[in-house]
Amino acid sequence: MAGIYIHIPFCKQACHYCNFHFSASTKLLDPMVQAICKEIELQQHFFDAPNSIIDTIYLGGGTPSLLPSPATAQILEAIKKYYNLSGQIEITLEANPDDITKEKLISLKSMGINRLSIGVQSFMDEDLIWMNRAHRSDAAVQAIELAKEVGIDNISIDLIYGIPTLTNENWIQNINKAVALNVQHLSCYALTVEPKTPLNALILKGDKQDIDTAKQATHFELLTKHAAQAGYEHYELSNLALPGFRSKHNTSYWQQKKYLGIGPSAHSFTGNSRQWNIANNALYISSIEKGIVPFESETLSQATQYNEYIMTSLRTMEGCSYAYLHEKFGDNAVSRTKKIAAHYINKGQLMEQEKNLIATGQGKFFLDGIAADFFEV
Ligand code: SF4
Repeated sequence: MAGIYIHIPFCKQACHYCNFHFSASTKLLDPMVQAICKEIELQQHFFDAPNSIIDTIYLGGGTPSLLPSPATAQILEAIKKYYNLSGQIEITLEANPDDITKEKLISLKSMGINRLSIGVQSFMDEDLIWMNRAHRSDAAVQAIELAKEVGIDNISIDLIYGIPTLTNENWIQNINKAVALNVQHLSCYALTVEPKTPLNALILKGDKQDIDTAKQATHFELLTKHAAQAGYEHYELSNLALPGFRSKHNTSYWQQKKYLGIGPSAHSFTGNSRQWNIANNALYISSIEKGIVPFESETLSQATQYNEYIMTSLRTMEGCSYAYLHEKFGDNAVSRTKKIAAHYINKGQLMEQEKNLIATGQGKFFLDGIAADFFEV
């Protein structure tokens, strides 16, 4: 089983905190769709096993909902033509609330899209303005209602916490609103300030207040508590789902499964190597037009693979499996991991359960630092 990610590198406007690859001009949209379809064909042998089955497709970005429906259909048709798709495939499309109309949703559903990931971020307009989002809260609510109305019954929303305008009370209201709207999946992120973003420049100039990490820790605790009360499984640090609605695509990333990334800046993973396409729309298109996929790659050392596994697995509810460590990295890796873990088990930040090493509620907010202690160099 394997997954395909498609990067659609266009957005209506730049959210101040964003460091993804996108352009706010859609001038190259048509040639980009043709190039993406061509790359889908060029990469048809990426999965070396000839009968590899694709069980997830994820259209992300950028803003895939900016694409006209025929363009989305053309991309999905190209994938169907060159790859074997599972009968149980999960096909997710990221959508911004202000792009969603009933007609669009009906058309997306008819082409096989069965999961929607809506970029809500907050149900409070003051937060959306602070982030420079293009939509407002009423559009987010309407988008969710419309998706339910057309029969899309696997809806995820993104929410951001820990920003200066978001009080503890409003964060609880955001969680409760998502619960009341009965969305099946929540992706919740603590806002980080990345170096080359407008947000970073605004904070440095003193035009915007900086992020308060103590507030973020409080919001994380509130999320864990309120979402659990509503029946959501906190199955990964930033992801919560009602039973049966975990993201198959993202889960495959955390389980080290192979995936192919198509489009500018998209990353691919083969199990022991990683590659990433050029993050430049015009150069990507011109290279693909010549039949060349413009990417760089690196072979992952055993140490890097171990570090990545520790980092991603400790973020999940199931944690790090000693059996997997044994199979993939040998006995030494297991004893080394147990030795380092002992300190954090004593501190109550990690625990061992059924031969897995798992972060406790107390350890979850410090995971970056804890995982770094395990890293092999
Ligand atoms: S819509 Fe998403 S990808 Fe586009 S600028 Fe905003 S955060 Fe970034």
